[in-house]
Amino acid sequence: MSERLVVIGFGPVASSLVEGLLPAVRSKELDLTVLGAEERAAYNRVLLAEVAIGAAKPEHLGMADEPRLRAAGVDLRLGTAATGVDRARRVVHTADGPVPYDRLVFATGARPVIPSLAGLNFDPHADTELPSGVLVLRTLDDALQLQSVLREDGRVLVLGGGILGLEAALAMASAGYRPVLVHHGPAPLGRVVDADGGTLLIRQLEAAGVQVFSGVRATGVQKQNGRFHALATETHGLLHADALLVSTGVRPRTELAEGCGLAVGSGIAVNEQLMADSSGRLFAVGDCAEVAGRRPAGLLAPGWAQAGWLADYLLSHPAPHPSAPAPDLGCMQGPQAQGGEILMLKGQGLELTAAGTVQAGFFDDPAQQVTVYADPASGRYLKIVARHGVPTGFLTLGLPRTGAELALGFERGSALPVDPSLLLRLDAPFEDAQAPAGADDQLCRCSGATYGQVAQAVQAGCSTVQEVGANCRAGTGCGGCKERIEEMLRLPAQI
Ligand SMILES: Cc1cc2nc3c(=O)[nH]c(=O)nc-3n(C[C@H](O)[C@H](O)[C@H](O)COP(=O)(O)OP(=O)(O)OC[C@H]3O[C@@H](n4cnc5c(N)ncnc54)[C@H](O)[C@@H]3O)c2cc1C
Repeated sequence: MSERLVVIGFGPVASSLVEGLLPAVRSKELDLTVLGAEERAAYNRVLLAEVAIGAAKPEHLGMADEPRLRAAGVDLRLGTAATGVDRARRVVHTADGPVPYDRLVFATGARPVIPSLAGLNFDPHADTELPSGVLVLRTLDDALQLQSVLREDGRVLVLGGGILGLEAALAMASAGYRPVLVHHGPAPLGRVVDADGGTLLIRQLEAAGVQVFSGVRATGVQKQNGRFHALATETHGLLHADALLVSTGVRPRTELAEGCGLAVGSGIAVNEQLMADSSGRLFAVGDCAEVAGRRPAGLLAPGWAQAGWLADYLLSHPAPHPSAPAPDLGCMQGPQAQGGEILMLKGQGLELTAAGTVQAGFFDDPAQQVTVYADPASGRYLKIVARHGVPTGFLTLGLPRTGAELALGFERGSALPVDPSLLLRLDAPFEDAQAPAGADDQLCRCSGATYGQVAQAVQAGCSTVQEVGANCRAGTGCGGCKERIEEMLRLPAQI
């Protein structure tokens, strides 16, 4: 009898897992059921702001070929939420009845955090019913709601100075709307910017068309005729707008796991091998999973790395026999953590890359080396804080290649050049200062695809960015590397 595997959730990470399992589904070794609460098959959330401003169409976001999966034998149940898990009987409950499993994967992702403001009733374990005009941006339906506000030329207040709030505001500004960003710190992205970098960031946001209110203490939402009317604040009075886009972080969806007695921390607690308990039958991946005590990164790259690893593991290790002892996988290496430490802002004309913290002053600690370059008139700023020559934090604004090089070095724990100012030459206006990429250098941060893999895809006959994406996943996440893939399609001999 074939093994029954149930996956709860059908977001980008589950979709990648299902792709990896497809050969076993086709050969009938695996009886795969996927429960997706949304009516739509997996899609790319990274492009939701583009949908809201009308720059991308919902049908362009698809990440799963639904007819192909069904034809291969996947039992794909869209619009079907899992409502409970019975570990003793090994069934998942749904409104349509129980679904039995031999092994089960939680890929339930995350939901937006709703702050506890008067007029909003936040429930951490369920989707909060929001008043009309109060929006979030996590699903395609959310993006379409925001689109309808913008189409009526509505003024949108974005609440939250994190990366998603900034990107949404920048997207709206790029389309000619006049969003207002409201946040409580001295500058947006407060954890990764220092005072000067923050001031420059605010200037650049304003120049891009985003009005910024810093240091705001929001207390509640006010409604008129049942619809959002104003954000009440302690510091800035009433801030009126047609809609409030709440962007105050995300929280993993853990309630199902908690409900069946699994350990939950900042996500569903799993070990390095993604196992949620000692039975060897329960796993969690993606935005819902706290792997070996690490807070979920909330990014595609680590989720895709986990999905690829888990697909290989499930195909090569059969479900444990009910009377068998728990598998001892102590020495088996789990998926390599990818990304999560580097912050990259994608926005019209605004290039920010950061990691760690850069608050240190020049003379705070003799063991720390602090390097700063600032040219505010041209929007360029670099700050690196290092210990024993190895960066513990950095921030670049307006220096995309320097930022990319620092990000790579930060992930590898590499030392800085003896003279860190050499890094600035990467953004010099003459091309020969830029180091050529090597085959092992990462081209796509989301999928982890390297220049060498893209070159191979091109050599294998891929002639469009989409074809390269289908071959090695490069360019299918945030899309920040599409220009580089296009360059390689034009000049395939480069690598
Ligand atoms: C606007 C925006 C911009 C982003 N930009 C970037 C970026 O630039 N780079 C980057 O790497 N990442 C970005 N992300 C994050 C990225 O989209 C997530 O990391 C990714 O979606 C995680 O995938 P996932 O499959 O783990 O979870 P999700 O995408 O959250 O999918 C989980 C799915 O499970 C379903 N589900 C939950 N509970 C149940 C249940 N009980 N039964 C059935 N189904 C259930 C949910 O409805 C959902 O469809 C962005 C996200 C947003 C919203």
